[in-house]
Amino acid sequence: MDGQPDDFKIKGAAAIKRTHTPETCTICLEPITERAVAAPCNHLTFDFICLVSWLQEQSTCPLCKTQVSEVQYDWRSPDDYKTYHVPTREEGEKKREAPTGRRRPRRHPQPPPPAIEDPSLTLRREIYTHRLYALHIGSNAHSNYHSFTPADVRSSPTLQSRAKTFLRRELRVFPFLTPSRVDFLIEYILAILRNFELRGADGKAEELVGEFVGRENARQVVHELEAWLRSPFGRLGGWDERVQYKDRCGDRGKGEGGLRGGRDECNRHDVYAPMMSR
Ligand SMILES: [Zn+2]
Ligand SMILES: [Zn+2]
Repeated sequence: MDGQPDDFKIKGAAAIKRTHTPETCTICLEPITERAVAAPCNHLTFDFICLVSWLQEQSTCPLCKTQVSEVQYDWRSPDDYKTYHVPTREEGEKKREAPTGRRRPRRHPQPPPPAIEDPSLTLRREIYTHRLYALHIGSNAHSNYHSFTPADVRSSPTLQSRAKTFLRRELRVFPFLTPSRVDFLIEYILAILRNFELRGADGKAEELVGEFVGRENARQVVHELEAWLRSPFGRLGGWDERVQYKDRCGDRGKGEGGLRGGRDECNRHDVYAPMMSR
């Protein structure tokens, strides 16, 4: 610990404080649950979710107005933490364009797709294109489906790892997310799961995820993630085979969903049960 630069002492304090004093988040004025440190200024009285949401609007520290280049979070020890690189202005603009569905021509070529794409990913894309929502299955001993709370997520490594497994595939549905953005979003959504009811009445989770993928996509990601986490499946393949979809065409008028087909096409898929063999 000796001889470390000052900022490490500050970060060390962050890691330690996290387990003791319930300090207040400067942004939401609630006790801090997941501490984030703004770099380079090292102000540290923020929740991760609050600070990253703030930085979507302006890239300066809420306390000192210094330009924030990265956010350090998920503190385990003074030198074991994760880093979120705040997008530069240009990256930020690209991000905001993407979810509208009316993208401007790309300035850079797309990275080449992986040689062999997971066939289940194609199905997931289809489900998003057609705005299909997994049918709800009630919680009971017979179905083995169970509701969960943020506290359940905090205390269950299994739920956390299942959420990651799901999101790692699901977020690849969106071509505008770079691999590093996907990595970040997985951690970000995990933080949301630990702190908010996924489908709470305030729509908080949807709103937060919507900043990155657009509101319509976020609503669907949140719905599908909840359906998966409530299910008894440990592997995506098992869930893919069993999950059923009801068309939600009737809701589509509200948003800017990407389906170009008309209502006729919609009705043909009234109930849609994807099979792995497709
Ligand atoms: Zn906060
Ligand atoms: Zn600051």
